[in-house]
Amino acid sequence: MASHLALGPAREQVLERARRLPAETVRLAEARGRTLAGDVFARHHLPPFDNSAMDGFALRSADTAGATASNPVVLTLAGESRAGTPERRALEAGEIAKISTGAALPDGADCVLRVEDAGRPDEAHVEVAYELAPGHDVRPAGDDVRAGERVVAAGAVIGAGEIAMLASVGSGTVECARRPRVAIVTTGDELVEPGGTLEHGQIFDSNSAMLVALVEACGAELVSLDTAVADEQTPAERAIAAALAGDGAPPDVLIACGGVSVGEHDHVKPALAAAGVGEIFWQVAMRPGHPTYFGVREAAGGENATLVFGLPGNPVSAYATFHMFAAPALRALAGGERLPRTVTARLAEPLRKPPGHAQVLRCRLSDDGHGGLLAAPTSGNQRSHAISSLVGVHGLALIPAEVTDLAAGAPVAVELTRA
Ligand code: AMP
Ligand code: MG
Repeated sequence: MASHLALGPAREQVLERARRLPAETVRLAEARGRTLAGDVFARHHLPPFDNSAMDGFALRSADTAGATASNPVVLTLAGESRAGTPERRALEAGEIAKISTGAALPDGADCVLRVEDAGRPDEAHVEVAYELAPGHDVRPAGDDVRAGERVVAAGAVIGAGEIAMLASVGSGTVECARRPRVAIVTTGDELVEPGGTLEHGQIFDSNSAMLVALVEACGAELVSLDTAVADEQTPAERAIAAALAGDGAPPDVLIACGGVSVGEHDHVKPALAAAGVGEIFWQVAMRPGHPTYFGVREAAGGENATLVFGLPGNPVSAYATFHMFAAPALRALAGGERLPRTVTARLAEPLRKPPGHAQVLRCRLSDDGHGGLLAAPTSGNQRSHAISSLVGVHGLALIPAEVTDLAAGAPVAVELTRA
């Protein structure tokens, strides 16, 4: 057991082989969840011009010298600058112009008087009851971003905030790594599609739907989903060969789930070998997820290589090993940050485990009341068949192989799950 590949090095073996896919042009409106392939730079200042931070009046600060509540300065109203329709005429000494939030400051003006602070003795004049400094309530050009500055870095996952930034610098399209194409094959004689009826000894196939959700949450594209419901060599071989051939092009990733253990009816490894997949590793010193397999089907004649994950069929093992190996690979193919975000949390209850394998604990995170995080197992039953432990997971706590005893309150690293 201890001689099996450790979790960290196993993950390194995967990441070494997961290189960013070629870039393609994506419309900004469709870029959410995609990964930016190259840095994006501002072509102009942001804001592009000096503009008003408030609804009010644009004026020359020098004209307000000596103004007080008892001795206000009276300025003559001259024009209006609206957002999108700036006042083109320059402001002369003694003049003041109406201005809306975001509208360009007229030439000559250097500050803004808020509408609620303006006295209006009549339609043609505005009273200013205090001195205004240059720049008061003005958002200067380039105050947010300077022309030429990098606004979003290569590798960033595009969310709503990044979309706002990219749109603001005028990017109608962006270059993103192509989405990884993923095929899924689940195997098992006992599996029935949810919605069907169970005979004695059968169970519903929960992994197919779960893996689809996980794949989609990684921003990847599902290209095929097949279930080989006969634990014999031939159906597994057929399903795997078809998934690897793909529809036109081979997938970037194949996830085979179930049948990867040492049982007499575990036909996935030989089926993968028959399809030309070279094994990189099989069996990792981790619980759940010990039988995990990883291999590569090398590219043939200009086609893509396919990374192949053989995940154990226990739903909890499949969930944990997807997060440990397949998710980082999918993120790497998409050109993004490979490893999940990790936080340190204090364990809510003591934990004992044998040495020799890392343990992946499904956890809920909460405030520990002292400015930190508490990681509590999602269910008392953390065994690999306990599907109840998958409900309400915030993250996976990684307990290193050599650890055997942890007291309540001990710090643990928790990898945040995104699905
Ligand atoms: P296997 O990895 O095929 O040896 O399966 C290990 C355990 O996971 C067995 O109890 C299977 O019945 C169960 N299992 C396998 N595939 C699935 C699936 N797609 N959905 C739910 N349970 C599964
Ligand atoms: Mg099976």
